[in-house]
Amino acid sequence: MMRNIKIVAFDADDTLWPNEDLFREAEEHFCRLMQPYTDKDKAKEALFSTEINNLPLYGYGIKAFMLSMIETALKLSGGKMDSAVTEQIISTGRAMLNQPVKLLPGALPVFKTLSAKYKLVVATKGDLLDQERKLNKSGLTRYLHHIEIMSEKNIRGYKTLMRRLGVMPQEFLMVGNSLKSDIMPVVKLGARAVWIPYSLTWQHENLATDKLSNGFIKMDKIADLLKIL
Ligand SMILES: [Mg+2]
Repeated sequence: MMRNIKIVAFDADDTLWPNEDLFREAEEHFCRLMQPYTDKDKAKEALFSTEINNLPLYGYGIKAFMLSMIETALKLSGGKMDSAVTEQIISTGRAMLNQPVKLLPGALPVFKTLSAKYKLVVATKGDLLDQERKLNKSGLTRYLHHIEIMSEKNIRGYKTLMRRLGVMPQEFLMVGNSLKSDIMPVVKLGARAVWIPYSLTWQHENLATDKLSNGFIKMDKIADLLKIL
C-alpha cells in the first residue's frame, strides 16, 4: 500500500503537538467567567454555536476563538458584562498564543528518519501567523519540504495541494488525528491516510467512523509509522 508514496504530509495540531487541551482549558475558564449569567453547559453550547457561525468569516485558530468568546459573553450577559471579563478573555487568548510548543512523543525521531526517504509536508488549518510560530518553535521546519496552511481541509484543498506538489493521489500519504479533516477527503481522492486519534477531539471535527469505507490505517502513536514506511 505504501510502495508508491513520495510525499508524507502531517496534520499539526493534536498530531505533532497537543492543541485541543488548550482550548478545553480556555473553555472551562470562559464558563467560570459566565457563571453570573448562565450555567456551564449553556455557556459551552452558546460558545460552540458562535464559533460555528463565525467559521466562514474568521476561520480557525485562537484569534477567531477569542472573538467568539467575547461575542458569546456579550450575548449571555445581555450586554451587561463588565470590562474585566473582556480583559480576562483577551488575556486567556494571549496566554494560548504564547504557549510553548511541546512535540508529542515520537514526532521528532519520525521526522528525522522519514525525511531521508520522503518529502515531508505539514498541512494544517488555523491561523497563518500562529501556525508558523508553532512550526518555528517545534524545530521541525528543517525536515520539511513544504508547509501548507489551508483555510479548509476538504477535497478541493487536498487536490490543490497535490497539484502544487506535483504528485498523484497514490503517491500522497496524509497523517492526522481528525477523521473529518485529515482522513475522509484524502481517502475520497484515492490517496493514502493514517489516522492517529488524539485523546480529545473538538465537536466540529467529530465524524462517525461508519461514514468511512476503509482505505486508511489506524495507529495508536506516530512512532508506529516507522513500521510501514
Ligand atoms: Mg489536528
